[in-house]
Amino acid sequence: MDTPSDTACKRPFVPPFKVGNGFDVHALAADLPMWLGGVRIEDSPVGFVAHSDGDVAIHALCDAILGALALGDIGHHFPDTSDEWRGIDSKILLSKVVDLARERGWEVGNADITIALQAPKIGKYVPSMRETLSKVMGISVDNVSVKATTTEKLGFVGRKEGCEVWATVLLYKACPV
Ligand code: MG
Repeated sequence: MDTPSDTACKRPFVPPFKVGNGFDVHALAADLPMWLGGVRIEDSPVGFVAHSDGDVAIHALCDAILGALALGDIGHHFPDTSDEWRGIDSKILLSKVVDLARERGWEVGNADITIALQAPKIGKYVPSMRETLSKVMGISVDNVSVKATTTEKLGFVGRKEGCEVWATVLLYKACPV
């Protein structure tokens, strides 16, 4: 007969949480609109070279959610060879990725995003990025962190050639079994 401790330790134990990380890079070019964290960076003279709107922060966030679900990456779901996704608002992609999680019983608990960009300075846009991303994911703004940093003029980010973004998410099982 199982003791209480035997029962608690039975395998396989499936925790009601999943973590995922995402990473993305896009090159900068002149005379393109800059979309970052779901927000238009109005005063930027440069934007991201991309098949979509180039929102590198949302792409990293999508990859973090897909990674937690072991569902491949954003390129698999929204290939840049398809006209369907040409110039698309990346918020739509994020919404679709969140739907993929929900269809499987998972909700986004929180997300933490780090944006490395030398210029322009984006600090003043961070509150609206958090607000926008939280609305798209249907979670509290308190559970969406966006951090902006430079790379101290080092590397391609420091040379203002591109932007790197890292994202980490926690998913939780909406209906624990
Ligand atoms: Mg991308």
